[in-house]
Amino acid sequence: MKMEDILGGLIPSWSSVVILFFYLGYLAIAGSLLPGKVIPGAVLSDGTRLHYRCNGLLSLIMLLVLLGIGVNMKMISPTVVADKGIELMSATFIFSVIVSLALYAVGCKSRKQSSSLKAHVTGNFIHDCWFGVQLNPHFIGVDLKFFFVRAGMMGWLFINLSVLAKSIQAGNVNISVILSQLFCGLYILDYFFHEEFMTSTWDIIAERLGFMLVFGDLVFIPFTFSIQGWWLLKNEVILSKVAVIANCLVFLVGYCVFRGANKQKHIFKKNPKAPIWGKAPKVVGGKLLVSGYWGVSRHCNYLGDLLLALSFSLPCGASSPIPYFYPIYLLILLIWRERRDEERCSQKYKEVWVEYCKLVPWRILPYVY
Ligand code: NDP
Repeated sequence: MKMEDILGGLIPSWSSVVILFFYLGYLAIAGSLLPGKVIPGAVLSDGTRLHYRCNGLLSLIMLLVLLGIGVNMKMISPTVVADKGIELMSATFIFSVIVSLALYAVGCKSRKQSSSLKAHVTGNFIHDCWFGVQLNPHFIGVDLKFFFVRAGMMGWLFINLSVLAKSIQAGNVNISVILSQLFCGLYILDYFFHEEFMTSTWDIIAERLGFMLVFGDLVFIPFTFSIQGWWLLKNEVILSKVAVIANCLVFLVGYCVFRGANKQKHIFKKNPKAPIWGKAPKVVGGKLLVSGYWGVSRHCNYLGDLLLALSFSLPCGASSPIPYFYPIYLLILLIWRERRDEERCSQKYKEVWVEYCKLVPWRILPYVY
């Protein structure tokens, strides 16, 4: 791509703004109207709980069907998202900045409210805009944090599919393209299949909504996590049979560890007596699970996620570090997050956490870290 195309794309066209608003508007309406399991969230500091309607999978399927019809009737091009990649990214970036400023302004106003939506304003404008001031801001009844993460994950899939359509047009679909698309697509579909597990994650229960999360969800996840697909459009990789098998194994092991660990914790939180790997769970202080993956390392779920991220990039071979952006970024993010979570847990669980750390000394990867 030429430099002038990139610079030109930084100013979003009206059509990219329309695509963005159509997409977010659809998600807001579908999320409010479509049926879905209603899951109670974590207990908030004032003892109340939010409820999340987990209808992301249905919203996704319906949107895929609608777009499929549009493509069939030649009303939309299947490559529209990929064609407008940079413009869409800058439109989404500007939108994220506006939303973050609006969240800050609304948060400052609601500062005196003594409810769970109370704002945590430090007075440092940059800090407050970056990290956000409200834990669970809502807009016309939509829980914005849950909404943005859904939009980001779904956007990631649509960018991938649009890049795949470009690969098909260019006639360069091979096993590398198929594996990278397949693993990433399965990961995103699995996310929506298990969307209820999201309600007990750090982002939802502990992180305030500011530029960091809005930008992370809406811009960073969809536009940078799809780098492998873009890279494979321009670079042909021939994989050996051994490489294909090894790549599939990394994906399968990663998936089992990632999904297994998150599921075990989710089930444990709902029913602390539910068996883990067929046996009664071992628990420390009545609160922390020491069985299953949570007895292997204190964040085995991060290990699974990292293996999965690696499996999306391995089909790109070893000739360039560019397609490895996502696993490298995730490694840094999860190490940082693990440190912050550790701090939060040691404050929350005190001596119980110390005991857990003695029983399970490894943070993420046993015998290494
Ligand atoms: P976790 O799901 O690991 O949640 C951490 C919380 O779980 C702790 O704060 C504590 O909360 C509870 N907990 C910790 N240890 C135990 C235990 N032994 N028994 C019971 N409860 C325990 O963290 P995240 O929310 O960060 O991650 C969720 C998933 O999302 C992970 O798989 C991660 O890889 C993925 N992720 C992916 C990202 C991406 O960009 N692809 C980014 C971030 C996360 P409590 O107070 O409830 O006890």
